[in-house]
Amino acid sequence: MSLDGREGELKENRKFQLKDPWRVEIIQNHRLLLANPYRSTISFGGSREESVVQDISLDKLQKMKPILLIEMDYSLNKTYTGRVIKLKSLEPVLVMPVYLSMIVEDTDGDSQRCIIHNYQYNAETVDEIFGIGCKFSIINPHLRTGAADNKPFIKVTDPATVILHRTEGVRKMCRYCGIENAEKHCAKCKTANYCDRDCQTRDWKVYKHKHLCA
Ligand SMILES: [Zn+2]
Ligand SMILES: [Zn+2]
Repeated sequence: MSLDGREGELKENRKFQLKDPWRVEIIQNHRLLLANPYRSTISFGGSREESVVQDISLDKLQKMKPILLIEMDYSLNKTYTGRVIKLKSLEPVLVMPVYLSMIVEDTDGDSQRCIIHNYQYNAETVDEIFGIGCKFSIINPHLRTGAADNKPFIKVTDPATVILHRTEGVRKMCRYCGIENAEKHCAKCKTANYCDRDCQTRDWKVYKHKHLCA
């Protein structure tokens, strides 16, 4: 197959992926929750220091076997011991009283909800660590179903299994397609970046940007 053909195929696949019903559902729900003023009124006890990962070197991380979301079966409520999943955050962090909630995408472009418990964070800087475009890996990832909705999410209870890749973050990530250096932005909220009008329109229609646009 020619290079052009291959690129064309990838683009088609990506378009399909971006409209995946589960991706649309979790992003829309996340944005609805973010729009709730609950977020800004929470005060979280404990240390104001961020958690620091100490035991795992990048060298050790590179020797672990990677895993993708497609290889994990949420109905098993299983921990994939000895595996590591690399993720990119797609949305602002939803700060809940006892956990951080985010929407993530794996290196294959599949998306999922991710909940991190017991992570000591600073509310002012948490989006610089886990917000839009931030990358991190989870060692021994656990995919399970939520008690409330019986739908899948990645659950992290030990913050030491979270490895941040702070230098790899995606700058000016398009809020629809995820591409880096999206120079256009929403004229109203001025916070959402887009490649072009097409991505902006799709973000509005498909993922409901209006929940975040103020
Ligand atoms: Zn885009
Ligand atoms: Zn906006």
